[in-house]
Formats: sequence, structure tokens, C-alpha cells
Amino acid sequence: MATLTLERKTQHVNKPFEPDVVFFEPQALEYPLGKELMNRFKGSNTPIQMTTSHNQVRGIQGESGSPEWYRNAKRTLVVGVKRSLKFEPSKPSAEYAIPLATGCMAHCHYCYLNTNVGTKPYIRVYVNLEEIYGQAEKYMRERAPEITRFEAACTSDPVGIEHITGSLKRTIEYFGQQELGRLRFVTKFANVDSLLDAKHNGHTRFRFSINADYVIRNFEPATSSFLDRIEAAKKVAEAGYPLGFIAAPLYRFDGWKEGYEDLFELLARALPSSATKDLTFELIQHRFTKVAKNLILARYPKTKLEMDETKRQYKWGKYGRGKYVYKKDEAAELQMHLERLVHSYFPQAEISYFT
Ligand code: SF4
Repeated sequence: MATLTLERKTQHVNKPFEPDVVFFEPQALEYPLGKELMNRFKGSNTPIQMTTSHNQVRGIQGESGSPEWYRNAKRTLVVGVKRSLKFEPSKPSAEYAIPLATGCMAHCHYCYLNTNVGTKPYIRVYVNLEEIYGQAEKYMRERAPEITRFEAACTSDPVGIEHITGSLKRTIEYFGQQELGRLRFVTKFANVDSLLDAKHNGHTRFRFSINADYVIRNFEPATSSFLDRIEAAKKVAEAGYPLGFIAAPLYRFDGWKEGYEDLFELLARALPSSATKDLTFELIQHRFTKVAKNLILARYPKTKLEMDETKRQYKWGKYGRGKYVYKKDEAAELQMHLERLVHSYFPQAEISYFT
């Protein structure tokens, strides 16, 4: 059934991201990571600027809000301090979102950050890690003796910037020592080597975002290729991490059934049996809001992403803010097909949810 070959797809390589310009908030330099990052960038050709706050970042090229400005903003790094230490909830996969960074350099058309960090698409990394861990500890204490799960990918892709900050490895090792805390994150990037020797103690679930080849090729520019992600997943499983895949967004393109079957066939062929011992799948159908649709069309005017409200069903959400999801029968068909694929290719895996 699979028409793709591993050999053809391994040609694809991604260079780790380097920003065009980096801004520092002065307070960031009071923290060891802030100083480390200042030294890193002083030793490079990247222009450095100071800013009183990330809200004051100025000088991004292009008319504010235009595709050019948006592209340049995504190549801008801000090194700062996380001031509000109230963590957001992160249902259904975790209790809390742990804030390490916001923004991402990739250009997935349907990225949830389009609306989450809409007017501030630059990448912001936080250096006050000890304070962030202190807050996590409070949440763990409140829920003891229950385990508390923290999601590190709610506002960015933490693997994509790990070669710059090293924050994810520190956080993995922090949770490795926590009896009642677990970490999880998801990535579309394959540069995982620096995380393989982290002392994770099995407390971090390392998930990769996967999709049919058609979807990755058309809607996920500047991320790692599917095959590179699978190579990375193999390494992560061999390093003893609990592994997971988020198949999202599940998207009904022409030939979607075969496309997703190809994906699972390739995945099953590529993964070693050690990777499938503790394996989870999260299944998320494509959805959009009116606000997201307008932003996507402004930023990626040539996108082929289908966002026709008349073909969808409106699902009411919290605070009266709803989303367009597939109509009931189409969503049920997606769910059935994907669940069948998980069960037949990975009978021992757990499906965490379909939404
Ligand atoms: Fe958004 Fe993730 Fe794509 Fe980055 S990799 S643009 S965070 S969906």
C-alpha cells in the first residue's frame, strides 16, 4: 500500500535555526542563562539589541502584520524573564502548561500560535528557570499525592530552539527528580541529540507530531521532514523515553485514507520494537476559528488549506468561543479510520483521545 520509500524521504535535512537579530531585556542578564545567552550571541555575528520589555521590540522589517513582517518577526529572538508565574491549564493532555518559551520559527499554516501569540510572533525565551520550577513545585504540592503533568509545548516548539537555550534538557532533568511531576512536550523537529543523555528517569513523555506526507509537504514549511522526525523518534525510544505521537491535524484531503495508511505503514516499518513498549497516540482533527482563518489567509495567502465554514460543524467552546470542526459523520469516519490504523499497526499502543 505505501507508495513512499524510506530512502527517498531521508534526503530531507533541516539546518538548526539561528535568529537574524536578538533582543535582551536587561533583567534577563541577572540570571545565569541570560548571561550564557549574551556570551553566545556576542561570539556570533547576530546583531544584539537591548529592549526594556518584549512589548517594546521595534524595528522588525515590513509593515506591521504583513507577511514580510510576520516572516521577519519569526526570525527574531527575545531573551526575557517570565513575570507572571500563573501557569495556564493544558487539557486534555496535562494539568498545566509550563512556560519555557513562546513563538516558533516554523510556518505551519494551521499553527495554534497564529491566534495564541497573534500580534507577537517573535520567539521569546525565558531565563528565570528556577522561578518557573519553584512555581511547578507549588502546583505539584497542591495536587499531592496525585501526579501532576506539565506540557512544555503549549506556546512554542521547545525542541526547535533547544540548541540555543538548553532549557528543555534542564527541565527534563528537573522532572527526572520529581516524584509527583511529569513532563511532556511535542515537536515537529528532529534535532534531539542533545536530549538523549538527559537524566529523564522515565518522567518525560517525548512526543512527535506526525501527519500524512501530503499534509506535511503542503502545510508545514520549515519543520523537519516526516522521516527525520521518525529517525529522531527511534533515537528517543532507544534513550528510554516514553514515546508518543500526536497525529494532528487530521485533515481530509483527496486520498486521505490511503495517505494516513501510508503514514502508519511507514511508522511501523521504521520504529524498533523497543519504541512500541510504552507508546501513546493522540488524535486531533483539523479545526479553525474565524479569527485564525483570517490570520492564515493574511499570512499565507496562497495556502491550499480548506477552511470553508459551510463544510464544517460549529463546536461551541469555553467563553462562547467556538471552532469549526468536521461534520459529525466525517469526524466519525476520521476517528474510525485512525483508530483502526493505530490498532492494526501498533496493537499495544494506547490511544489517549480523539478530539
Ligand atoms: Fe506552530 Fe508547531 Fe509548526 Fe512551530 S512547529 S509553527 S509551534 S505548529
